[in-house]
Amino acid sequence: MASASRQLPNGLKSAGDLKIEVEQGVVALEQSRTRLRDQTRILKSVFSSMNEGVVVVDRLGKRLLANHAAELMVGLDQRDVAPEKWAEVYGFFLSDQSTLCPAHEFPLVRVMRGQRVDDAEFFIRNPQSGEERWVNFNSRPLLDDRGTVLGGIAVIRDISEHKRAREIVAEQQRELERSNRDLEQFAYAASHDLQEPLRAVSGYCQLLQRRYKGQLDVNAQRYIAEAVNGARRMQALIEGLLAYSRVARRGNPIVPTDSQTAFDQALVNLEAAIGECGAVITHDRLPLVAADSMQLMLLFQNLIGNALKYRGADPPRIHVKAEERETDWLFSVQDNGIGIDPRHHEKIFLIFQRLHTRNEYPGMGIGLAICLKIVERHGGHLWVESEPGQGSTFFFNLLRPPQGEP
Ligand code: ADP
Repeated sequence: MASASRQLPNGLKSAGDLKIEVEQGVVALEQSRTRLRDQTRILKSVFSSMNEGVVVVDRLGKRLLANHAAELMVGLDQRDVAPEKWAEVYGFFLSDQSTLCPAHEFPLVRVMRGQRVDDAEFFIRNPQSGEERWVNFNSRPLLDDRGTVLGGIAVIRDISEHKRAREIVAEQQRELERSNRDLEQFAYAASHDLQEPLRAVSGYCQLLQRRYKGQLDVNAQRYIAEAVNGARRMQALIEGLLAYSRVARRGNPIVPTDSQTAFDQALVNLEAAIGECGAVITHDRLPLVAADSMQLMLLFQNLIGNALKYRGADPPRIHVKAEERETDWLFSVQDNGIGIDPRHHEKIFLIFQRLHTRNEYPGMGIGLAICLKIVERHGGHLWVESEPGQGSTFFFNLLRPPQGEP
């Protein structure tokens, strides 16, 4: 009997062979159909369960696909709307919430022209339901292998919550700035107005002290001396408070400033204190920064002044460093003084907060609060790294002056 796979002359296959091949082809086709169906099902379920809306249109703007999220966000109940009518029909507005999005700016219109759209924000007011929301669009053209535009795809995200949260934060920020300004104004007015009566109290007390020196008993003289001391302290506090409120109220413009000059001036002002304790102060090359020169001088003066005041048993050794970074300079003022317990590293920057009594170290707890205000006014940060008995390093950063400026 002849075999079914027997080769016929001229390479032709027998009918039996052909039948087997066709049957195998049919099985393979059925398998790939099943695979395709499975993949389509998976893709469809991913597509419909996405939180992002997805819309696909052809070259003429005819909608090919849109998932459930897109229908919810945009209200796509109308089909076959011409692209130039999209903004009007779907209620798309620019971020002022009142200008209808011009047709040529509509993301899917732009991608149909071959452009891509990244993170475009729109405000949607659905003309039917009146529902309002903020959305973010990312769109890409659909291209064939040769780069011809076949249509476009848009991914839409509902950013209403995010936008609301951003607005709340911005409003809180404005509120904080307003109340800060009010507080500064109050501190300024109160301390300014207090100065005058305080001068009178202190003046009359001193007059009493001088005029009635021999006529008063020891107790009366002690009481008057205490009153004079108290008035002096109060005056110093008020001056500190005024200096604090002046940082924001009376600042000079922030311009390119030589930090070396500000540092030198601070040392001149501290000359007596430096000489008294035999301090050795060294420094790196100090750069040009964006700063108010007076305030920068005061910053160096307060930090170096503290390093002198809070010295340990050895003569103070203080080093001022400046490290160039991408957009700013990181300064540090390092000392070998008594150090600060990490528990107090934040507290010391608050106004009137001190870690010592006046008998141990004189002061009012305003110096570092002023430093912090100065650095923050310049857009920087001020912090300390320290351990008790290990010295302290105060860090602050200042922006580099804009390029092109001297
Ligand atoms: P004052 O020196 O008048 O107390 P400051 O605001 O300048 O006010 O400092 C607050 C506190 O921080 C000081 O009381 C002191 O305890 C601590 N302090 C500041 N600088 C240093 C320093 N270089 N070394 C150790 N402690 C410091």
